[in-house]
Formats: sequence, structure tokens, C-alpha cells
Amino acid sequence: PSPNKKQPDGQRISVCVRKRPLTHAECRRGESDVVTTPSGECVTVHESKEAVDLTQYILQHRFYFDHVFGEESSNEEVYRKTAYPLVQHMLNGGKATCFAYGQTGAGKTHTMLGSSPGVRPGLYALAVRDIFAQLSTMRTHSSLLVYVSFFEIYCGQLYDLLDHRKRLFAREDGQKVVHIAGLRHVRVDSVSSLLEVISQGTEERTQGMSGVNPLSSRSHALLQIQLRGPNQQIAGRMWFVDLAGSERASDTKEPDRQSRMEGAEINQSLLALKECIRSLDQEQSHTPFRQSKLTQVLKDSFIGDSMTCMIANISPCHLATEHTLNTLRYADRVK
Ligand code: ADP
Ligand code: MG
Repeated sequence: PSPNKKQPDGQRISVCVRKRPLTHAECRRGESDVVTTPSGECVTVHESKEAVDLTQYILQHRFYFDHVFGEESSNEEVYRKTAYPLVQHMLNGGKATCFAYGQTGAGKTHTMLGSSPGVRPGLYALAVRDIFAQLSTMRTHSSLLVYVSFFEIYCGQLYDLLDHRKRLFAREDGQKVVHIAGLRHVRVDSVSSLLEVISQGTEERTQGMSGVNPLSSRSHALLQIQLRGPNQQIAGRMWFVDLAGSERASDTKEPDRQSRMEGAEINQSLLALKECIRSLDQEQSHTPFRQSKLTQVLKDSFIGDSMTCMIANISPCHLATEHTLNTLRYADRVK
């Protein structure tokens, strides 16, 4: 496959929103659902406010995106409209990146990894299933091998999830290509072996948990799938990024120093990410890769014929209104 082949219907960036249902615990607590999805492209947040005369009124905030998924949408449906076109692009030799953005508890991991393994597979598994199915039917692809790597960025530092959290370092070579020295790439030959590797990495991710906030809400998890030819040359690649909880970006008022530092770091990386994705669509020369470790390691995703999809996950809860609006405003500016 030619590495420079453009998608015929090439929309390079798509920005989508996914609302999750109220959980059983939220229903029991009597939480109200303040988010509606009137159409497949529109989402509305109903915010109740108190007027000067102490009467209540409802403020509506309406946003439009490429796709809006309501709480009834399955991972399969989300996959079809988000990662699926990216997988096709990758199989044509291209580069693609799919992000899950949103506050902790909004459904990022449910979207990427799925909930009950095997029962409700997420985008990782659905993409991998398609990749292996297509490799086995396309004669031109029969010699391609599949490799996976999985690492985490926490406070600007990289840890290999497939190698006992080994500390990794990103370096730019003379051609300004970023390499992650020592990153483990595992060759996989079936859907089940790939899912096994992903589940090992995920376990590593949650085990690093400490304190009040699980580490997974404070770090970005980056899964990369590479197709390689017989001489190990890269013939397509795709990233899946489960981002740190976006609420942490605004939690810079935290009492302890470590949390403030984490919050500042996450804030910086999410801002840089927004700028880098936006620059994909404008033929501008300056993309601020270097402003965060996240955008630096993803540099290749922001240049050339890359395709990007962002899924902004939101909670339906009244209590989460402020974070939900922040998420929607962020996603709106990425477009
Ligand atoms: P995050 O990774 O953004 O912190 P999670 O994916 O862990 O959030 O979701 C929080 C909770 O909500 C989990 O219990 C998850 O199973 C549930 N959940 C999230 N999205 C959905 C959905 N679309 N349908 C049903 N349950 C969901
Ligand atoms: Mg998560």
C-alpha cells in the first residue's frame, strides 16, 4: 500500500460527542439527567439558574458536532462512525489517531476498552477485529505483521505498560522524527492475542493506583497498532488515546503540591493537543508539538495525511454540568 494515499472522502478531523446513561447508583441517588441529544449531530445541556427574584429558569446550551451519540448508542455504533474510517485509512497505509476526551467517569474507558470484556467490547477490540479480518482477505496485505505498544504519560513522563512500567524517553532524531527509545512492541497474530496484551497493559495501568484519585484519571494511556511489511517497514499505524480526566486540568486549586503539578501538566497537554489538532486543518507551518509530552510523542499524527477523531465523553448528571459544558466547549474549539 502506498503510504501517501489520500482518503477519497477525506475529512481529516471529526469531532463527536458521546453521552453516557445515568448509572444505577446515580438513579438511586435521584440524580437528574440534564443532557438531551435531539439529533445525531446536536447535544443540549439544560442548566437551571436562579434569577434575581429567586425564581428558577432554564438555560439551554446547544452544540453541533459531526456525530452525537445518545445514551442508547452501543460501542459498535460509535465504532462505525468514529474509528472505522480511521482503520480503513490505516489499512491503506495511512496514519490515524482516535482520542477519548472527558471528565473522569464520563465513559472514556467504556468507549475504548469496553465494560465487561468480551460482552461489550470497546473500540480497541472492534478495530483489531476489523484489522485481522481485512488482512486475511486482502491479498496485497497477506505479508503484513501486526505490532502493538501501550504506554502511559503521567506528569510528563512515559511508562511502558507492556514492560512493568519501565520508564521511557522520547527523542527527536536528525530528521525531526520522534522515537520512544526502548518502547516494547509486541507482535500479535490474532484478535485474542492482541486483546490479551491490551488487558495485561490495562492491569498494569490500574495497579499503579494510589491516593484518592486513581492513576488512570491522572494519566494519558496511548495504545499504538502498527502494520509492518516483511522488512519491518511501517505500512500503516493507528493510535488510540484514553486521555487523563479533563476535570483535573481545572483542579489547579488542589491543596497538595503533587496534585497541583498533575493538574497543571494535564492542563498544558490538553491545551497543546487542541492547538495541534486544529493546525491539522489549517495549512499552517507552526504546530506546537513541543508544548507537552503528549503532543510531542504524537507529533506524527499532526502532520501529513493523518486522520483524527475525537470522542468527547460526557456525563448526563446535573452535578457534572460545569464539567460537561467545559468538555463541549473544548470539543467545539477542536473542530
Ligand atoms: P472514564 O474512563 O471516563 O473515567 P468510565 O468509562 O470508567 O469513565 O465510565 C464510568 C462508569 O460509567 C463505568 O461504570 C462505566 O461502565 C459506565 N459507563 C460509561 N459509559 C457507558 C455507556 N455508554 N453505557 C453504559 N455504561 C457506561
Ligand atoms: Mg477511564
